[in-house]
Amino acid sequence: MNNLIKEELKKKYRNATDKLILLDYDGTLVDFAPLPEKAIPTEKLLDVLAKLIAKPQTKVMIISGRGYQDIDRLLGHLPINIIAEHGAMMKENGVWKKQIIDNGSWKNKILPILNRMTLTCPNSFIEEKHFSLTWHYRNAESESGYSHSRALIYILETTINEYSLKMLDGNKVVEIMTKELSKGIAVKNLVEQNKYDYILAIGDDKTDEEMFEYLSHNANADSVKVGEGNTLAKYKLDNVNKVISLLEQLSQ
Ligand SMILES: [Mg+2]
Repeated sequence: MNNLIKEELKKKYRNATDKLILLDYDGTLVDFAPLPEKAIPTEKLLDVLAKLIAKPQTKVMIISGRGYQDIDRLLGHLPINIIAEHGAMMKENGVWKKQIIDNGSWKNKILPILNRMTLTCPNSFIEEKHFSLTWHYRNAESESGYSHSRALIYILETTINEYSLKMLDGNKVVEIMTKELSKGIAVKNLVEQNKYDYILAIGDDKTDEEMFEYLSHNANADSVKVGEGNTLAKYKLDNVNKVISLLEQLSQ
């Protein structure tokens, strides 16, 4: 994103009357850490978010794949709206509400497979959330982690289809959840509730592409992909610092 586009974006934001800002968390607002619990928000980020939330006619929504208690621990002290677990849980006006029905019975089929993979791939680990299971290989030796992740995806394929699940091949993670969960669906539900005349969505990973795709049909929406790689987003920013700098400019 060059300066000209940045100025244009700021102008669109300023001139709009009803604005929605959708922000992914990991890799977008904070850098990745070896363990997810170590990816804590910086003072600078908290300050910028607080200013942005306080702007009139601006709804700020964090949209993350993290478990809801987890993201709440990191940002819950701010009066901020949060979508967690790819849309399964939503916090609005301080109250968490479940957005889907899923008793998680499918987990019994997937967990043994993930456990076996964790045993053969040192330093990988499983994270269990209410509505999803994630296998992390960020801390594994990189070649071994990658090849195990390919094997895992191959092994899971049949079970996934059988139980109407989907698999996300993310940044050093493989995540399994029900098919009805997607950041795209979550954003669609949100956008349909209100006539926003400006929407800005920022994210770095494959799950964010679902919201970029949905928003690509909305003339009032801008989308930003953080980092390298193919994307359906309109623009790109190099890293977390550039995202925070953009948000800081919007918050002024
Ligand atoms: Mg992310």
